[in-house]
Amino acid sequence: MPTETIFSKIINREIPADIVYEDDLSLAFRDVNPQAPVHILVIPKQPIPMVADAVAADQSLLGHLLLVAAQIAKAEGLAKGFRLVINNGEDGGQSVPHLHVHILGGRSMQWPPG
Ligand code: 5GP
Repeated sequence: MPTETIFSKIINREIPADIVYEDDLSLAFRDVNPQAPVHILVIPKQPIPMVADAVAADQSLLGHLLLVAAQIAKAEGLAKGFRLVINNGEDGGQSVPHLHVHILGGRSMQWPPG
């Protein structure tokens, strides 16, 4: 059983979050420490720790998260573009071990990322 994280508490409404989208499989809320004018996290309700832990049975769930992210980006007015980021593990810069897709937008992004 994966360890409970701060994101489990957000899913269970044990701590507050600015939730922008929810369905049976996923939840999206604004990042508490935004790195862009729009910074939203899309998470599966099922607590997969990181994308490297995903298995074949998670295929449609992973696709769902990307479709939800694209839908939210559209709703946020990010017609000029946006960036989706999934940090994986220590070197990937992941700090919360509950898989999440960052939606970053509202400014021009740089490449390569830090
Ligand atoms: P990571 O570094 O794991 O890819 O991203 C974790 C993100 O979660 C960070 O951008 C961080 O600001 C955000 N975060 C951490 N704790 C909370 C919280 O309690 N509420 C919200 N809304 N975001 C959080």
